[in-house]
Amino acid sequence: MEKLEMLYEGKAKKVFKTSESGKCWIEYKDDATAFNGEKKGKIAGKGTMNNEISAIFLSLLKEKGVNNHFVQRISGTEQIVLQVEIIPIEVVVRNIAAGSLAKRLGWEEGKELPQAIVEYYYKNDELGDPIINNDHIALLGLTSESDLTKIRNQALKINKILQEFLKMKDLILVDFKLEFGKTLEGEIILADEISPDTCRFWDASTKEKLDKDRFRRDLGNVKEAYQEILRRIGGTVGV
Ligand code: UDP
Repeated sequence: MEKLEMLYEGKAKKVFKTSESGKCWIEYKDDATAFNGEKKGKIAGKGTMNNEISAIFLSLLKEKGVNNHFVQRISGTEQIVLQVEIIPIEVVVRNIAAGSLAKRLGWEEGKELPQAIVEYYYKNDELGDPIINNDHIALLGLTSESDLTKIRNQALKINKILQEFLKMKDLILVDFKLEFGKTLEGEIILADEISPDTCRFWDASTKEKLDKDRFRRDLGNVKEAYQEILRRIGGTVGV
C-alpha cells in the first residue's frame, strides 16, 4: 500500500489517501491544543504514544465486538484505518463529574454520577463545539434518530468495556469523547482515536490526573502521564 496525498490535517493528526480504496493512512503528531485551539504546544513523543495507546484500545474493542476503523499500526507514529465519512457529532460519555460538566452544573469535580451519561457536541470549530441534543441533531440533519440510538448504545457499551479493562490497571475512566463515521458501505462505525488526548484517566488510588488535563491546566509531567498510561495498558514506553 502506498501513502498518497494528504486529505486533511487536524490538530493532532494528518490523514492521507492510500493506493487502496477504502483505507486511509493516519499520522499522529506531537502537537497539542486545548480550549478550541487557543492554547497550543507540543508534547514530545505524544504522536508515538497516542498511536500505540489508540491501537491497543481499538484492538481491544474490536475483540469485544465493537467494530471500528482501526486496521493496523505500521510505524511509531502511523496507522492504517478504514476510510469513513465522519459524522460531525462529538459523543462524550461521563462516569464522574469533571471539566465542562462540573462547570455547567456547578458540581464538584470528582463526584461520581449515579449512572453513565452521554452528551453530544456539534463538531464545529467556528462555533466552539456547542453542546446539542437529539432535536438539534435532527434539525441539523447530522444523523437519523435510529442511527443516533445505535451510536448512543455503542458509546455506552464502549464505556463498559474500557472501564472494566482500565479498572484492572488501577485506572478510573472519568470521561471520554468518541467520534463515529460512515464507511463506503454505509455502515456506522467507531472512528478517530482513543487516547489521553480524548479521555480523562485518573489513578484509582491517588486520583492523580494522567491525561491532557495536565497540559490544559499546566500541571507538569505531561509526557510522563501519557507514558504511564501506555505502560499500564501494556504498551512499550521506548519514547
Ligand atoms: N474532549 C475531546 N475533545 C474535545 C472536547 C472534549 O476529546 O474537543 C474530551 C475530553 O478530553 C474529556 C471529555 O471529552 O475527556 C469531556 O470533555 P469536557 O466536555 O469536560 O471539556 P473540557 O473540560 O475538556 O473542555
